[in-house]
Amino acid sequence: MKLDKIEMEHRVENFIMQCRELRIKVTPQRIAIYKELSSTGEHPSAEIIYKKIKKYYPNISLTTIYRTLETFEKLGIISVANILHDAARYDANLNPHHHLVCVVCKRVEDFYDDSLSNLTIPEESLDNYKVLGYSIQLNGICKECQKKKS
Ligand SMILES: [Zn+2]
Ligand SMILES: [Zn+2]
Repeated sequence: MKLDKIEMEHRVENFIMQCRELRIKVTPQRIAIYKELSSTGEHPSAEIIYKKIKKYYPNISLTTIYRTLETFEKLGIISVANILHDAARYDANLNPHHHLVCVVCKRVEDFYDDSLSNLTIPEESLDNYKVLGYSIQLNGICKECQKKKS
């Protein structure tokens, strides 16, 4: 899902407001990290974000990126899509959505489906577990990887 410029600016504005409300400092690095994440639908790992940010903040460390993403996640500004394999993948899309995960190239794509977003939670079988949310993950092979195989 590509975002247009206006939507992007809107997200960044929201982000800055959120930081102020939560009383965390709005630094240029934090804005850059958030921007990088929210401008892509690719659910990048911390390392991928690091490589991109490094181009304009050569002094930033991978640890800073990890810590910042962790802070954002704890505050509910972003979420972590925990995929079956490798590193945590970060997601700035907080609308209810689901994931398609390619088991070959590990690409993560969003998809939307109203019926999947409105499933009835079987509370009786959860023994009073308090459910805060859910997202469905479909594992498969993406179009590109299918092409490569054949
Ligand atoms: Zn693939
Ligand atoms: Zn997502």
